[in-house]
Amino acid sequence: MKRRDVIKNLSILPVSGVILGSVVPFGSVLSAPAAPAPAKRDLFSELGIRTFINAAGTYTAMSGCLMRDEVVETINASAKEFAFIDEVQDKVGAKIAALCHAEAATVTAGCWSASVLGMAGALTGMDMKKVGQLPNLTGMKSEAIVQKAHNEGYVHALTNTGVTIVVVETVEDVAKAVNEKTAIMWFLNYAGPNGQIQDKEWVALGKKYNVPTMIDMAADSTPVENLSKFNDMGFDLVCVSGGKGLRGPQSAGILMGKKELIAAARLNAPPRGGNIGRGMKVNKEEILGMYVAIEHFINMDQAKEWKIWEDRVAVIENAAKKVNGVTTTVTVPPVANRTPTLTISWDIAKVNIKRRDFQEKLSKGNPSIEMMGGKDNSVTITVWMLKPGQEKIVAGRIFEELSKAAV
Ligand SMILES: *Cc1c(COP(=O)(O)O)cnc(C)c1O
Repeated sequence: MKRRDVIKNLSILPVSGVILGSVVPFGSVLSAPAAPAPAKRDLFSELGIRTFINAAGTYTAMSGCLMRDEVVETINASAKEFAFIDEVQDKVGAKIAALCHAEAATVTAGCWSASVLGMAGALTGMDMKKVGQLPNLTGMKSEAIVQKAHNEGYVHALTNTGVTIVVVETVEDVAKAVNEKTAIMWFLNYAGPNGQIQDKEWVALGKKYNVPTMIDMAADSTPVENLSKFNDMGFDLVCVSGGKGLRGPQSAGILMGKKELIAAARLNAPPRGGNIGRGMKVNKEEILGMYVAIEHFINMDQAKEWKIWEDRVAVIENAAKKVNGVTTTVTVPPVANRTPTLTISWDIAKVNIKRRDFQEKLSKGNPSIEMMGGKDNSVTITVWMLKPGQEKIVAGRIFEELSKAAV
């Protein structure tokens, strides 16, 4: 796509109202036209907030994902009635549990809060005194077992409840680590390949030592089978993000698993207060939106969606490759964010631009485009967060800036 065409597309922005007002003469014999609908308020332009084409991916800082239309419609419609949150959670939880082969489920304020609440439930059970006491663990278990390769930032969700992380590497380490204080064995799905103990074996060890197992599969909703796989495998608790590949509300997620653990987690969550989860509030709109998002995701044609992603990648890849000195590769990450991922690299001797400067040109262009940086001479792109047709704009701008830098 040529730059000219991009600009052409931009020049057809609506100018409604103005035209109408200037054409219809005052005192016209035409019957008075209905008052024009007031222009929709655009807070992005009103407040000067930059919006952009997201060719990067599902990043929290970039506002995650665009919710599916069905989700937005659900949110708008459900905002107009009152309901008791517990009843919404009961009904939605039963539906999500059935969709994902879990005994029970509850909608949380994200995967991170699902991990906090799952951890809390494992500590307190149905004991309201313990619920009120967290993060003071007197009289409770106090340790979570985590593999070394899984021990990164997200474990803060566990330590939020007061527990200590006990790091292990081998099956023998687990045998030594388990004691009467062990509350959970936690597994970070995307770190799976880097650890010595794999998911099935982790579950088996949990059962052997009678310790509940919990998995964080936040961004791993593709392939869709993952949404039931870990429940079928025997994990006691499964945590998922709503606002990544599922394209539900970014401030929602799912905690699912064993009935008694979900019930205990809910004691630690809103709408109840006097617990550590009180700040992790989800309202009926997000709970229902989360349900519609996962229902749609599970029922949609995954192969068709994948083909759309591949076609978009091809459009961008073909445009970039036209520039002498540019090479491209398409990969699919082994675990998290499984979507076709395009890396564009260039030979600095032939295309003289630093990656950071290239990103800045795209970011500051019109329309603004964001992508992820790679090395000094490469960028990484995913297309699953693009709106239909935006791949052409991205392709055009990448071609334009790389061509300009060609020596
Ligand atoms: C995104 C992410 C989280 C946090 O999920 P939220 O839904 O944003 O709360 C936790 N763990 C992993 C691995 C993630 O990628």
